[in-house]
Amino acid sequence: MITRDEIRELAAFSADEKNGACALSFYFQPDAPQDRSHRREAILAKDLVKQAVKEAEGKGRNGGLHADLDRILEVAGRWRGHPRGHAVFACSAQNYWKEFDLPPRLAATGIFIQSRFQLKPLAALLGAQPSLRVVVVDRQRARFFDLRLDELHERDAIVHMLSRNAANYGYQGYDAGHAERRISDEALQHFKAVGERLRSGRDKGIWERLIVGCQDSNWPEFEANLHPSVRQRVIGRFSADVASVGSEEIRDRANAILERWTEERGRLKAEEALAFAKSNGRGVTGLRRVLQALETGEVQTLFLSDNYSAHAVECTNCGHLDAHVVRSCMACGGPTRELADVTDAIIPIAIRRDIELFYLKDHDELDLAGNIAALLRFRADQNRTGQIAAAS
Ligand SMILES: [Zn+2]
Repeated sequence: MITRDEIRELAAFSADEKNGACALSFYFQPDAPQDRSHRREAILAKDLVKQAVKEAEGKGRNGGLHADLDRILEVAGRWRGHPRGHAVFACSAQNYWKEFDLPPRLAATGIFIQSRFQLKPLAALLGAQPSLRVVVVDRQRARFFDLRLDELHERDAIVHMLSRNAANYGYQGYDAGHAERRISDEALQHFKAVGERLRSGRDKGIWERLIVGCQDSNWPEFEANLHPSVRQRVIGRFSADVASVGSEEIRDRANAILERWTEERGRLKAEEALAFAKSNGRGVTGLRRVLQALETGEVQTLFLSDNYSAHAVECTNCGHLDAHVVRSCMACGGPTRELADVTDAIIPIAIRRDIELFYLKDHDELDLAGNIAALLRFRADQNRTGQIAAAS
């Protein structure tokens, strides 16, 4: 699977258009599992490549592109029938070729030939994904997992065997009360140890959010033994038995919780940004203000309507983005070029700067506010006002 550093590398790539190079991005979404023939996905990939060749020839692109497209057809043939999504980023003129597996949750299969890699499908998939820990726990055992992009990895485990004495008391048939107390005391120690392991992982920054799988009856006691800094990062819980639960079930249950949580969080944060924008605080709406805020480094979180796209210009000299389609740059006077979709320029910026990115479906208030909004870390203009006041 793709790492954050690899995504940053893709976001920083730019094709040398003056020398005829172009950045090719290909996303492959497999057919639904019930469609076992996989004919549709093969035909679709072929048609898309054919069409891309035609368009490239129409624009007089060089032969390097054809080589990339041929190679894409070849790898797409290999992927046929596998329930995974894929992406290829290529630019043979600059000797660049990267292939990645992705969760099969892409909106569609598609090819993009541009000056930068098309990262919107990637951003929609992982723009706001926290690093996630899953712990599956009972009174004696705990297993720790990482979940990232549909891949579940087991990292660690704790097993506390019941002490022989505790087990023996019961068998010997006397002082059953004592044995029970002993067992529950050992369970308590176990929960404390698991809580401690989680806290130290959190302190080291190994994970950001936590999902817990346990039997319902164990949850209150386990939760009570979590450090507050861990407890407030629990985003959901599912019912599971450590001894019998399989990796696939853990992954699916945790994914479902993560998806719900991400959607809810996106909605809440967008509402916050919109309210802040109205009260002239840490929020802005509309393309013009969002572009300004991106340039001053104020943006913390970015919200886009699902199908948002807008014309803009980009300065070929300094990179300044302008919502008004002007010929020369407002910042440096350099020549501009028109962008058919400004999000092609915004997304790489968000990725490079670790700005959290949410795509929102059917969010009426965001749609009304111009389909784009941002939550700010600070307000540059208010800071400046403060400085001027202090200086005078
Ligand atoms: Zn400029």
